[in-house]
Amino acid sequence: MNGKVWLIGAGPGDAELLTLKALRVLQSCDTWLVDDLVGRDILDFARPGTRIVHVGKRGGCKSTPQAFILRLMARYARQGKTVARVKGGDPFIFGRGGEEWAWLAERGVDVEAVGGITAGLAVGPALGLPLTHRSVARGVALVTAHTVDGSRPDWQALAASQLTVVCYMGMSDVEALAGELMAAGFAANLPVAVVHRAGCAEQRHIVTRLQTLAADVARSGLASPAVIVLGEVAALAQVTVAEQAWPIAV
Ligand code: SAH
Repeated sequence: MNGKVWLIGAGPGDAELLTLKALRVLQSCDTWLVDDLVGRDILDFARPGTRIVHVGKRGGCKSTPQAFILRLMARYARQGKTVARVKGGDPFIFGRGGEEWAWLAERGVDVEAVGGITAGLAVGPALGLPLTHRSVARGVALVTAHTVDGSRPDWQALAASQLTVVCYMGMSDVEALAGELMAAGFAANLPVAVVHRAGCAEQRHIVTRLQTLAADVARSGLASPAVIVLGEVAALAQVTVAEQAWPIAV
């Protein structure tokens, strides 16, 4: 009997930001393997009797090894189960969706996927912050500041591109990151927004400038998970921070 694995993006956290398709497929799955960036409310949608396995793997925390998660998915599928691999945001944006699909397909496991709203793109509607804006930003780049091999995006090319840059996994050393960015040609007075748990009830953010980024992040206490939005558009955020008792003048 052959089961199947669904790679499902649960969006940034708020259960209402799940797609209808994600919800329908989730409710058709008997086994859920759930990442820890997935909003807890989403678990309430599980059919009674669903086996829910938490396989969180947050940077720096105790985590389930990826190889174990892969084997678990394959094992359940071979038992005939319909498995939901539930991930925060979109499975194919820094979510290992590509690796997992390829690994499972090589072993003959049937795989399909459902997209979700990635954290970086949740920032726009959450703050009224247009990631693209006529004559200000003609595009947006989603990049990671943290890689296994320590390599970095081509910051110089990104600085020259004038695109809005949304940085994932950049909170572990914001001071070093800001230094690198300025050395690569990002202006010291470039507006920057840092958004913690975008699109979730616990969302908090600051708007600052690159040169004061590290100090303001430290003062605000904002930590991972957060995205860092670099670009003139950051100054256009409509949701003010004053109501969060964190006023920052841009
Ligand atoms: N697949 C996910 C990204 C996983 S990588 C997605 O598409 O959103 C983990 C990083 O994503 C975190 O370090 C953080 O930078 C970012 N992130 C995930 N959820 C977030 C959220 N709700 N708010 C802000 N950043 C988030």
